[in-house]
Amino acid sequence: MAAPKVAVVGAGVVGLSTALCVADAFPACALAVLAERFTPSTTSDVAAGMLIPHTAPGTPIHVQKQWFKETFTYLFAISNSAEASEAGVHLVSGWQVFKSTPGEELPFWSDIVLGFRTMSEAELQKFPQHRYGQAFTTLKCDCPPYLLWMEKRLKAKGVQMYTRKVENLWELHSEYNIVVNCAGIGAHQLVGDQQLFPVRGQVLKVHAPWVKNFVRDGDGLTYIYPGISSVTLGGTREKESWSLSPDPSTTKDIFGRCCSLEPSLQAAQEVKVQVGLRPSRANVRLQREVWSQGGAKLLVVHNYGHGSGGFSMHRGTAKEAAQLVGECIAALQDSSSRAKL
Ligand code: FAD
Repeated sequence: MAAPKVAVVGAGVVGLSTALCVADAFPACALAVLAERFTPSTTSDVAAGMLIPHTAPGTPIHVQKQWFKETFTYLFAISNSAEASEAGVHLVSGWQVFKSTPGEELPFWSDIVLGFRTMSEAELQKFPQHRYGQAFTTLKCDCPPYLLWMEKRLKAKGVQMYTRKVENLWELHSEYNIVVNCAGIGAHQLVGDQQLFPVRGQVLKVHAPWVKNFVRDGDGLTYIYPGISSVTLGGTREKESWSLSPDPSTTKDIFGRCCSLEPSLQAAQEVKVQVGLRPSRANVRLQREVWSQGGAKLLVVHNYGHGSGGFSMHRGTAKEAAQLVGECIAALQDSSSRAKL
């Protein structure tokens, strides 16, 4: 049988990492990435890129933990290599603070991040409105450099990149044997997934190089995440809002909330305001399907719906999607050897 032709649709953090895992696991495949938008114009470019998971209600905790662990281990190795600055991956320490002690004191990811502990009374004095806090070190991706770094690695492996809007996955059946759907919120239209909905997020990128520690309010709504070239201030979570236009009153509100957590931000210079739509659903859709029409077949693997946690989980879900691609390749080989009998 000829080398299987595989297309990954989507060039956000999920599509590019999935393409990398497929290229590594199945180097004989002819692999292409097709996307309407590449960096710096994807939702993944807007993200803060922090590795702090959010719990997805429809996925067992042990599975989410495994995805996070694989992602953390992978990025930790990059942060500890000569590639770190080009890939935009670095360690960052800081605090998650709460106005009252949370019901669940130990989140499921507490033994994966580094040095997780309860904050001391002395540390809590920095946050007079908060009663309880957790200190830890985690990883952060500077998103556009990380996406570019993945693109560069894919091109070096001979993977083709095409700017193309796909109207229906079936339109790819004459060119590819296997299609991997990593379209993020685009999957709502692309495969008509009504369980997928946007959670709009607005963030500010500011210049404040003196801010070295992250601060996250335990409700997850207000956060200060220092990166390599800017500090991300957030945020909002607006369910079912499709608007990509920044709202000036929201910008003011985010800035005020962040200044009350870190007063030195009053002196920060605003660089840009960005909006992105988190591709949300009760669970990530990681699934294999066979589509057929009039005797023709297309093998489809879905990997989308990462909501607020695309960066935190991407490597784990990409590996699982690559395994599903492996099952598709085995099915193709099986049907080709049967046809020869
Ligand atoms: P996307 O980045 O949206 O990529 C989808 C790709 O599919 C794009 O290339 C698009 O052009 C392509 N596409 C879509 N439809 C089609 C089509 N029909 N044809 C061809 N191509 C198509 N997560 C974290 O883990 N940590 C954080 O700190 C964090 N902060 C965030 C802050 C904000 C404000 C927002 C909005 C999100 C944040 N997230 C964070 C979540 C994270 O951004 C997402 O989970 C992640 O970006 C989803 O990646 P994706 O590759 O699935 O989607």
